[in-house]
Amino acid sequence: MILVTGGSGFIGANFILNWFSENEEPLVNLDKLTYASNQDNLKHLKNSKNYFFEKGSIEDLSLVTALLEKYQPRAVINFAAESHVDRSISDSDDFIQTNILGTHTLLKASLKYFETLKGSEKDNFRYIQISTDEVYGSLKDKDPQSLEDSPYFPNSPYSASKASGDHLARAWHETFGLPVITTNCTNNYGPFQHEEKLIPLMISYSLKGKKLPIYGDGSNVRDWLYVKDHCDALSLVLKKGRTGETYNIGGKNEIKNIEVVTQICNLLDDIYPKKNGGSYSDQITFVEDRLGHDYRYGLNISKIENEIGWSPKENFHSGINKTVEWYLKKIK
Ligand code: NAD
Repeated sequence: MILVTGGSGFIGANFILNWFSENEEPLVNLDKLTYASNQDNLKHLKNSKNYFFEKGSIEDLSLVTALLEKYQPRAVINFAAESHVDRSISDSDDFIQTNILGTHTLLKASLKYFETLKGSEKDNFRYIQISTDEVYGSLKDKDPQSLEDSPYFPNSPYSASKASGDHLARAWHETFGLPVITTNCTNNYGPFQHEEKLIPLMISYSLKGKKLPIYGDGSNVRDWLYVKDHCDALSLVLKKGRTGETYNIGGKNEIKNIEVVTQICNLLDDIYPKKNGGSYSDQITFVEDRLGHDYRYGLNISKIENEIGWSPKENFHSGINKTVEWYLKKIK
């Protein structure tokens, strides 16, 4: 049995579906069901005898303690978070609550539970903290990609809250011996992502004939990872990762935002041409830049490649094809 938090969101839902496509080990999903969740993502599991759902918050100490006692998981994987940078700029409260205080509560409850375990159950227990490349801060074009031991320089309320959660997770390992592993991942894309995020927003607005708003001049660089690749990496980290370690996970696809959007438009022009013969790229418009917009994130992923034997299978071309096809199927 493993306990996943935030499993009704984008990456968590993909992780759970990926998990059951590969093994039958039971899994319990604790999710607060915020605006970012979608229960439909997991509707195929409704009658599965190995899937359990619990509605609630990682901030609720008595609930989390009771669930750990009830399900006796061999691992806790913490996906639960407020995850949208723009929202963290307009109102940071929920980010502090969930990403910092919630992580703190989950760590406290996990430690208490861990201390009740004995023998191989204790040796094999893992707490995995899911984090982001944004904690390393902004890179310039010629800067080397961030490594696991690069300093943290978070710039947005979102990345600062994630960085705080990571520091707490590290402290629970160093001080109390909780077997923590932290993963820092680049931008994910693929099925089930909320429409507020760049790629689904651009696909959806393209198809609705709306303007495609791009921050600033579109030159900001992000690395993109197809979500299934992330899920495969996490399953392997759970199996082979060393406790107390951090692993960077990325797609080796550093791309400017304008290129991401242009590729989506070109792809749609090919497979879902506009009735009036125009190009979707005619809808692109540049809007006032996000406050404190980090220029570039990029991760060096040699550690997970060499130590765990994971590499991304999809490049941006293959991943975006699958993603656009998925969204087109959804709207048809
Ligand atoms: P998401 O916003 O799509 O989903 C978050 C889920 O967490 C939702 O189902 C929500 O209901 C749940 N949740 C929120 N607060 C909760 C709480 N207090 N208790 C229990 N559940 C709660 O997020 P995502 O994109 O799937 O990201 C998952 C994790 O991966 C996050 O920790 C995020 O920081 C990290 N991450 C995301 C990306 C990305 O590109 N999406 C990249 C790197 C890291």
